[in-house]
Amino acid sequence: MAEGVASSTTPEGKPKSMFEKIIDGEYKIPFEERLRLDLKPDEIPPLPKGEEALKPSTVAGWQTEAIIRAMINNLHNGSDWETLFIYGGSGRVARNWKAFFETIELLKTLKPNETLFLQSGVPYGKTITHPWAPRIVVTNSIIVPEWAKYFNNMVEAGLTVYGQMTAGSFCFIGLQGIIQGTYETIAAAIKNAEKSPAYQKLSDFEKQIIVSAGLGLMSGAQPLAIKMNGKIAIIAEVNPKQIDRLYNLGRDRGTPYLDIKVDSVEEAIRIAKEYAEKKEAVSIGVLANAVDLLQYLVDNNITPHVLTDQTSAHDMLNGYVPAGMTYEEAIKLREENPKEYEKKAYETVKRHVELMLELQKRGAETFDYGNNIRGQALKAGVKNAFDFEGFVPKYIRPLFMEGKGPFRWAALSNDPQDILVTDEYAKKLFYDDPQLVNWIDLAEKYIPFEKGLPARVFWAGFFGRAAFGMLMNKLVAEGKLKAPVFIARDHLDGGSVASPFRETEGMKDGSDAIGDYPVLNLLGNALGGATLVAYHGGGGVGVGYSLHAGQIVVADGTRIAQEKLFRVLLWDPMSAILRHAAAGYEKAINIAKEYGLVVPGILENKEIDYKGLYNKIIETVKERTGIDLWPPMEKIELALL
Ligand code: NAD
Repeated sequence: MAEGVASSTTPEGKPKSMFEKIIDGEYKIPFEERLRLDLKPDEIPPLPKGEEALKPSTVAGWQTEAIIRAMINNLHNGSDWETLFIYGGSGRVARNWKAFFETIELLKTLKPNETLFLQSGVPYGKTITHPWAPRIVVTNSIIVPEWAKYFNNMVEAGLTVYGQMTAGSFCFIGLQGIIQGTYETIAAAIKNAEKSPAYQKLSDFEKQIIVSAGLGLMSGAQPLAIKMNGKIAIIAEVNPKQIDRLYNLGRDRGTPYLDIKVDSVEEAIRIAKEYAEKKEAVSIGVLANAVDLLQYLVDNNITPHVLTDQTSAHDMLNGYVPAGMTYEEAIKLREENPKEYEKKAYETVKRHVELMLELQKRGAETFDYGNNIRGQALKAGVKNAFDFEGFVPKYIRPLFMEGKGPFRWAALSNDPQDILVTDEYAKKLFYDDPQLVNWIDLAEKYIPFEKGLPARVFWAGFFGRAAFGMLMNKLVAEGKLKAPVFIARDHLDGGSVASPFRETEGMKDGSDAIGDYPVLNLLGNALGGATLVAYHGGGGVGVGYSLHAGQIVVADGTRIAQEKLFRVLLWDPMSAILRHAAAGYEKAINIAKEYGLVVPGILENKEIDYKGLYNKIIETVKERTGIDLWPPMEKIELALL
């Protein structure tokens, strides 16, 4: 039963409206009821395997089958399937179990000319569109800006859900989705640090260690990514279950996500010193609050080479854990006294950022890793919290200007062999990009496939994404892949995100908080024929702090899919180039010029040679991989009813 329905009045003595009660936290649906845990299955819904995986079971075929499997895949890769919680504080795949199953049922019978709409994790309705339109349109955590700060109250009233970035848009593929980004970011940080005079003053031991916190669903990529960079990772985590999960993940194939787990900071430092003596890379997870690890470093005059943090600091109630208590004690306090919990969390984050600033002063290459820790510390009174920069302006933005970002795909056959085939073709297509080829080799060596569908990620940009997507579609058509793949990307992206403390921090023209760009990205992808489009608020940094869009496009081996892939995978990275060109970045303008894009008001060009681009993709794919794509479609017939 909902609590506090028959409740108070306004100061003027008038009965409160429902909205006022929610804003004042007087109307809450208990968690179990809100999540409809009565409908939770006994086991995680299975993903088809073997022969069963090779056929769709839906009216609209693979386009809707892929989305159903992507939803279930999120549960397999996520944190706590029973509560539909996937990653990143409280990011969920659906609002409740009833909505989860209703969405699947609706997708099963959806016709190839219909589109289903979801409102924050609950099916909302469907309408007739056409076969080129998305089969599903998703929105999550969108709140009228003035009221965004009451988001949690609205969640508790059962009106919305936190979709994070890839949870509510169904393309969460686990740590494998983030690890390349983490690997490249750490590599850039190491390089940047080595240029600074402060680095020269560090001891041999200090030069080898990289410190962070958080071993969760995304942050858990840190230890392996640091080790792959040849360094020693020391990562604090308060939840022993998370440490164990990473310690076991990949251990059977000899490449665990976390090499060593310890219960004390002293022990972590002792082991790190042992490995530093041998000049050997290793990853160490320590059961400790981040502030306890950093305090130890400050007290013992140890300055790490690189310092960051990936705790769920964007959410001071449901993510970040205050110091001075165990994880269990924290969960108890969160449930019993949320106000006290938040107060303590803010006290901790204040100390946390102060310690980061101190270590930065002593020479550590320090950056915010997209969890809004600086914003929270500023709220807690650390006036100079923004004295260290975010990872996007510091290391990633130049890639965004080329339209590059984390591009991912998953094999619907549920057979890892299909991913290995795509790896082989990717290496042929991108043979002249040594970083990308090297990454695929590293990924095959180090990164275990996770519990869900086998998947891969790499950073690709304009032209490359479209060429590779169209190539994978033809591999499906020719039977070189056993079943279709779904192609998606992270919302950590150059063209589809407005997030002033992350992706759009410090834009040249001050357009950090302009929310038009993600909407334009979303609409372009929808009009181009993406299978799913999604529009979210609050991913990464918390509701009120970001707006972002995502897409999934299914390469099902059909002729029409090639056309859709051309359009979606052209526009999606193009919107990153345009967004940065519009903000005045020279590099983006030059890239737009090189590809013959239209940038009104900046470049003279008025026409894009689509046919030329299409044919160039066909030629490149043929020359490098031997695969013949279909020529551009001249005409299409649409069965509308
Ligand atoms: P998560 O909730 O799965 O993991 C965070 C972990 O931090 C949890 O295991 C939690 O126990 C631990 N933790 C919380 N407070 C702590 C403290 N004070 N000391 C030590 N450990 C603590 O979340 P996630 O998916 O790993 O994401 C982490 C953060 O990173 C989020 O804010 C997310 O939005 C952000 N993020 C950044 C990127 C990126 O590309 N930079 C990508 C995804 C997520």
